[in-house]
Amino acid sequence: MKQIFYKSTRGDRRLFTSSQAILQGISEDGGLFVPDSIPDLTHEINSIVDMNYKELSYLVMSKFFTDFDESELRECVGRAYDSKFDTENIVELKKVSNVYFMELYHGPTLAFKDMALSILPYLMKVSAKKNDFNKDILILTATSGDTGKAALESFSGVDRIKIIVLFPKNGVSKIQEMQMVTQEGDNTCVIGLNGNFDDAQTGVKNIFKDSFFNKKLFDMGYVLSSANSINIGRLIPQIVYYFYGYASMVKNGQIDKNEKINVVVPTGNFGNILAAYYAKSMGLPIKKLICASNDNNVLTDFINKGIYDKNRDFFVTISPSMDILISSNLERLLYLISDCDCSEVKQLMNSLNTNGEYSISQNMKDGLRDFYGNFATQKETLDSIKEIFDSDKYLIDTHTAVAYSVYKKYLEETNDNTKVLIASTASPYKFTKFVMKALDSKYSYMDDFSLIKEMNKIGFVNIPDSINDLENKEILHKIVCDKNQIRTKILDFLNNYK
Ligand SMILES: *Cc1c(COP(=O)(O)O)cnc(C)c1O
Repeated sequence: MKQIFYKSTRGDRRLFTSSQAILQGISEDGGLFVPDSIPDLTHEINSIVDMNYKELSYLVMSKFFTDFDESELRECVGRAYDSKFDTENIVELKKVSNVYFMELYHGPTLAFKDMALSILPYLMKVSAKKNDFNKDILILTATSGDTGKAALESFSGVDRIKIIVLFPKNGVSKIQEMQMVTQEGDNTCVIGLNGNFDDAQTGVKNIFKDSFFNKKLFDMGYVLSSANSINIGRLIPQIVYYFYGYASMVKNGQIDKNEKINVVVPTGNFGNILAAYYAKSMGLPIKKLICASNDNNVLTDFINKGIYDKNRDFFVTISPSMDILISSNLERLLYLISDCDCSEVKQLMNSLNTNGEYSISQNMKDGLRDFYGNFATQKETLDSIKEIFDSDKYLIDTHTAVAYSVYKKYLEETNDNTKVLIASTASPYKFTKFVMKALDSKYSYMDDFSLIKEMNKIGFVNIPDSINDLENKEILHKIVCDKNQIRTKILDFLNNYK
């Protein structure tokens, strides 16, 4: 099998094995790791139809993580996709009117972040062993709400790994916040940041680039790594479910073998939709990738005009996990649509850092032809939730509703009735306040926790165990800090750790 190596998007020419790239998280020059070629699965598309999630996971990951041997990778897969998920299928596909919702939220923290984060600790453990790593790993992760809990849950109690999560103090839902601050496990630390997600993500990226601080951590026995989708150990496992969703549609007779589908992804950091783009590049018959944004519609403008401009108001919306103006993973797309021109990517990223904007060449714009970008207002998002509930008694969360709203716009503009797979990224139970308000204004006055019971009453599925008694759990993490205090808080945590 062809060996795959990883290199930086910004020109550092060194090649890394997948295990090295997973351990390191981000390249030293500030770029993101990308595979030196994208594996081709065209000839295996027919054989995936009968695979279960684990088999398919193994197949896809084995093409990318070529320095893992079969038993190592199968063990990672086996441990990740087990009874932590509340369905044996791991991912469920629901046909509702004319669209197919791919429910990616059956994991322990009720959002699609579990799909990759449940395997990442195992990938890291194996990677550490392979590289005779003699330091402990310190995971430093910024979250717009869902990554944080998923990472805490999966790394809690893992030997020789510690994890610190930074979340925007007033930028996540009540339930998201409670899920994080009640996290158990001595090796976990949760910090509320006075700022928004971009501040948290930029703070984390700056720490990765800070060689003085990294040396200090190294002397204390730690090496930094990331659980954000900037880590290829996060990104690659996300490719799997696009193959799985497609295979399910074939198996159910909803599409013919090799029939093309469209895919809609509610997008923030551009990780999930990038995984879909990789799947397409590997041969999965995807026609259009529909990139759905909320009021923070920086990607809509980018896809339509070729200009990325983050100099705009930041909105805190009812789909907080998409409240992002700096979509990190777009850098990997820029790399691909510039024909792997690292100096071009580096220039664009420098421009983003200094001016907050960049514009791409006509040639690169042509590379965006597979994408459609649009956004949904909060009103449109709420209306979509109500529409689907009224017609089909099916509840979607606010992020998925952004995707559905944008799909309706696409359909109206293009009349393209290719079958469509919508990534359903979170359980409605995670955003009860906004979802219930969409159904009836009488719910506006109730708090998130009472609304869990109300949601259950109106006939929705059972309350997931993980949030059933969340309200009564002890708050274990109370640190709140400003941007310039992050380093101190990290050192405090490590120094107090016994
Ligand atoms: C993280 C998240 C998104 C955005 O995904 P990206 O990979 O950051 O684009 C969308 N919806 C939910 C519920 C999320 O948690």
